Amino acid sequence: MAQQFEDRFQRKFYYLRLSVTDVCNFKCTYCLPDGYQPSGQKNSSFLTLPEIQRVVRAFADCGTSKVRITGGEPTLRKDFNDIIACVANTAGIEKVATTTNGYRMAKQVQGWQSAGLTHINVSVDSLDPRMFHQITGENKFTQVMAGIDRAFEVGYQQVKVNVVLLKDLNHQQLPAFLDWIKHRPIQLRFIELMQTGEMDSLFERHHISGVAIRNQLIANGWVLKTRAHNDGPAQVFVHADYQGEIGLIMPYEKNFCHSCNRLRVSAKGKLHLCLFGEQGVELRDLLAQDNQQQALIERIQAQLQTKSVSHFLQDGNTGMTPNLASIGG
Ligand code: SAM
Ligand code: SF4
Repeated sequence: MAQQFEDRFQRKFYYLRLSVTDVCNFKCTYCLPDGYQPSGQKNSSFLTLPEIQRVVRAFADCGTSKVRITGGEPTLRKDFNDIIACVANTAGIEKVATTTNGYRMAKQVQGWQSAGLTHINVSVDSLDPRMFHQITGENKFTQVMAGIDRAFEVGYQQVKVNVVLLKDLNHQQLPAFLDWIKHRPIQLRFIELMQTGEMDSLFERHHISGVAIRNQLIANGWVLKTRAHNDGPAQVFVHADYQGEIGLIMPYEKNFCHSCNRLRVSAKGKLHLCLFGEQGVELRDLLAQDNQQQALIERIQAQLQTKSVSHFLQDGNTGMTPNLASIGG
């Protein structure tokens, strides 16, 4: 590898979060409460397979070893298995992950595995089916649970489960989540609710810090694990009596951005240096043909020199991100 993506703060970028669609079939209250609304813009199609191949190759040539395929709901893409295979077959890519709402995982996960998917994150905001329905707008709890079981049956050693921490909804359900992971190799990750541009008073009503959960874990003998260089932003805790692990993603915590190792490309081909705070930089004009790889790398490298040391979320600055489905959370 001749080149390495690195910013002015000596942060190296090993991890690409690639959105492949903005479309979603769920209506999570904190993300798309009214469901997916098409933008109505002309020429607004999502990245094609050859475009995905070129963008992933550019990142892999510059040190990226992990790609997360996200959205919207990435599994709604009819060519989802081809996307997985295309990413998995790119030289230098060791981990191919996806984040999904899991609604058809039970039927599809074997195909994802055969295509080369190495890691799965599924969102499950509550283990109470009624609350799951209330938060996601979909009565699909049973299907999602069946999908997790099926993932283990086809041979995944671990499944990660994302839970957005919501005050007065799921924040007191830690005991139920702990019971669930006691004998299951699940890494359950509590994500603090992040404020986005379209969010109304929901943030004030439901945001709660992960500190209380961290304190409870430490008080009960959970121990912090060390991070690998291409790991995501979670602080991961382990316990000798539990097969599962607990992760905490706390973007409002001081120094959250210091270990940033990830970049994002949106479903319409824009580079985002951060989940928050900028409109994105067009890459699509350089993705149409194979002969522009070096120009693509140079554009990404030039933009990286403008990456800020931190987001400004704690100041209430949510930047240009209307919701996380539009950029790939
Ligand atoms: N549709 C897939 C899913 O829900 O897993 C993938 C896309 S979704 C945008 C990725 C992750 O972002 C999910 O775990 C979701 O719960 C989380 N998310 C969405 N909006 C969020 C917000 N405002 N704050 C924190 N997490 C959020
Ligand atoms: Fe869809 Fe995921 Fe957003 Fe929920 S969090 S609305 S499943 S994109």
